[in-house]
Amino acid sequence: MQTQLAASIIATEHGRRADEILRACVHCGFCNATCPTYQVRRDELDGPRGRIYLIKNLLESDPDNDPDSGTANSTVRTHLDRCLTCRACETTCPSGVRYGELVEIGREVLERRAPSRHWLLPFLLHIVPNPRLLAPLLALGRPFRSLLPRRHRRLLRRPPQTRALPSTGRVLLVQGCVQRLVTPEVTAHLAGLLEARGLAPFVAEDELCCGGLALHLGRSDAARATMRENVERLSRYEADLIVSSASGCGVTLKDYGRLLGSRDAAAFAGKVRDVGQVLAGFRFRKRTLDGRELHRIAWHPPCTLQHGQQGVGVVGGVVEGILQATGYELVPVEDAHLCCGAAGSYSLLQPQMAAELKRRKASALAQHAPDAVATANIGCQTHLADAMAAPVLHWLELLA
Ligand code: SF4
Ligand code: SF4
Repeated sequence: MQTQLAASIIATEHGRRADEILRACVHCGFCNATCPTYQVRRDELDGPRGRIYLIKNLLESDPDNDPDSGTANSTVRTHLDRCLTCRACETTCPSGVRYGELVEIGREVLERRAPSRHWLLPFLLHIVPNPRLLAPLLALGRPFRSLLPRRHRRLLRRPPQTRALPSTGRVLLVQGCVQRLVTPEVTAHLAGLLEARGLAPFVAEDELCCGGLALHLGRSDAARATMRENVERLSRYEADLIVSSASGCGVTLKDYGRLLGSRDAAAFAGKVRDVGQVLAGFRFRKRTLDGRELHRIAWHPPCTLQHGQQGVGVVGGVVEGILQATGYELVPVEDAHLCCGAAGSYSLLQPQMAAELKRRKASALAQHAPDAVATANIGCQTHLADAMAAPVLHWLELLA
């Protein structure tokens, strides 16, 4: 693709990177075939190729000399906001176009020129990433749980009591802002699995949000400030490994080297592993759920695992291999590469598209009547829970 980015854009490192990515695109459109939003809307601008053109136009325009830039910005906003950042298009692209990086730059530029005024932004940027603020809010809402739409109820359940986890060791378990409040039993269970195999897991109470939420909302400066602080805090523990059991956090933590461009951040990111990478060498037994034997499992790989982490240590089939070696039968799931619609804050900001994608995903997962659905990210887990008759679990909960 030929480009002529605005002088003010090409003068920056991000501008030059965007130019490189744009030039790799040969506009073949193969990516549209695996884009969930294109499949629902059948609108070129709601597919990756159309969005790439929109970002190109955005980066080529000069808002100081273009009287129509306001209208153009609003079109770009509509279609970029509908993008899930699932990166299925990256997996499909034969030219290796790094769409995820490009949309990150596009959102950053757009946010500077025409900031989003969505009423949920203060909640998403300041409360969700801060467990000290989110925990009392969830506790306040608990008595009204039954009045809420079903999709929000699981978030407000009273989490089970878990034992206190060690605060020193060699393997730092990242708790995640939402997972630590909604399903803390997942990290507690993982700690038990690792201890039983001779490892020394621990948690850091001063862990911060990975920064992914702000990054996807185009608030790159705020996101990077949080990431820098997180590197500084967590590096002090001198862990050998930093393990994420929420793939949405893991994909961002593994990318700190690129995002922050510092040696410390690269060293930090080099220690980050998805939990599947750490458990792949061990054997497990099957686990019962409330006294019930589970056998047939529908596996839902989050986009942040199957598309986001494929270049950084996770090759497809790691979790599937562990579950099968443990004795579970994995039922076939149609269109497993497609996003369920959770996508971080997407289900709150784009509820209609998220609901349609959830309906499609739930139907694909239920097709072979599994005993349970297993996934690897708290966002997918809570999003899908109210759409499935079968329980939706983190896959770690299936291991004993
Ligand atoms: S598949 Fe790749 S090269 Fe083809 S249009 Fe999509 S991003 Fe561009
Ligand atoms: S990231 Fe996902 S939703 Fe966005 S353009 Fe690519 S495939 Fe479509």
